[in-house]
Amino acid sequence: MPKNPAASSKPPHQDKSHLASVTLSPRGLARVKSGHPWVYRSDIDRPDVARSNASAASDVPAISEIAPGATVRVLDPRGKFLGTALYSSSSQIAIRMIAREEITNLPALISQRIRDSIAYRQQFVSATNAYRVVFSEADFLPGLIIDRYSDILSVQILTQAMDAEPVRGAVIETLVEEFQPAGIVERVDARIRELEQLPARQSGLLWGKKSSTIITMNRSSDEGDKLGSGVHRSRSGVRMEPTSQAVGGNVEQNQAPNGRKNDVTVGVRLHYDGLEGQKTGSFLDQRENYAAAAKYVRGDALDVFCYQGGFALHMAPRCSAVIGVDSSRPALEMAAKNAALNEWVLGGKDIEWIEANAFDLLRDYAASGRRYDAIVLDPPAFAKTKRDLPKALSGYKELNLRALKMLKPGGILVTCSCSYHVSPTEFLEVVAAAARDVHRSLRLLESRAQALDHPILLNVPETGYLKCLIFYASN
Ligand code: SAH
Repeated sequence: MPKNPAASSKPPHQDKSHLASVTLSPRGLARVKSGHPWVYRSDIDRPDVARSNASAASDVPAISEIAPGATVRVLDPRGKFLGTALYSSSSQIAIRMIAREEITNLPALISQRIRDSIAYRQQFVSATNAYRVVFSEADFLPGLIIDRYSDILSVQILTQAMDAEPVRGAVIETLVEEFQPAGIVERVDARIRELEQLPARQSGLLWGKKSSTIITMNRSSDEGDKLGSGVHRSRSGVRMEPTSQAVGGNVEQNQAPNGRKNDVTVGVRLHYDGLEGQKTGSFLDQRENYAAAAKYVRGDALDVFCYQGGFALHMAPRCSAVIGVDSSRPALEMAAKNAALNEWVLGGKDIEWIEANAFDLLRDYAASGRRYDAIVLDPPAFAKTKRDLPKALSGYKELNLRALKMLKPGGILVTCSCSYHVSPTEFLEVVAAAARDVHRSLRLLESRAQALDHPILLNVPETGYLKCLIFYASN
């Protein structure tokens, strides 16, 4: 964890602060030493008997007495100060480490961490006005997710500590200062709030008036244009204003920027509505993979589990025909609207959107002898928990097998898994097994992960979840 200006200047062990303390068991200590921020309730030392133990320090209360979402001092089994964590009274993850120092001003720390996250994106993210600004643990802000969609920011709060009013205030204030957005929306996951025992809340605007916009991703016409180099600068130099090419704001018309037709360098535009029931505005984690896939494809392409058309729209300019398949009608309706938004890039090409169960459709298409030059598979996470793993692996195998049967010699397979519980090696093995079964030889063109704005933090394996493999099928 980075050093914190918000840390107390007093040596922590001398600081008799008002913060409650939590003592770790040896296993909890090993966990923290390994660099992982989570400590499970079972790894907290005698959580409910500390008070009754006469020798227990008065600043080590029974854990049940600690306020939900409190900032706590973390002590090793011998009482030595280890750092500061955020406490949850309901989650099995009882504490999430947030600093090695004692933190007396959590909102100030959160503000600083958000600014650090923005600086990281300015260095590594380009050619898009939609990206993840804060990715929870990977940005040392456990329980907080912030996405930027052009001039709109979307905030998700996943823990008691991040839900506290002073923290919410600091988040909004920092975002307004750094981005001067047209709107900040909060996206609420009712199930998570229930699990964290937080009062029910509706998704809605937290700031400003605007909740929908148009984003542009994978522009290559201004590749060198890092995020900070706009004319309209906010404090961080991040450009929020729509530019002539990176269309955002209220510009909804479908005209070609600068009148250019069939010009892929202008990027792909997508609708974003922050208050729609369903998550809209594409999967930002796949953004770089859309561009990577587009480099290799041609001919007839099939985008299976297409959602709102991310892969299909990026591939279409290079293909003769594209079919997008998904079981969700609202997703396909949005995909069609997105296609209309990119008319000039598609050069008059139509994408066919088909509502179907992907497994059935692949079986039927294979049986009727359909063949494709490129197939994308991007299913939902099949393994939501570790227990689902065997079933998930057979699901991935089945899907890849069916796709490989339909891939022409020389065809391209883009196959993805967003299940954290399926490791990159396991996923590669599943595809290898499918290829063996159908006697296809695959050459690995690229082994990819999530986009750089979703950092993968070493020692926190949960931050890396997306796998995207691109293969050339030689026979
Ligand atoms: N490729 C998309 C993301 C896909 S998310 C993108 O880049 O934006 C997974 C999608 O699978 C969702 O849109 C969901 O509606 C769809 N889905 C889930 N089960 C399905 C099934 N059995 N058949 C077809 N689509 C399915």
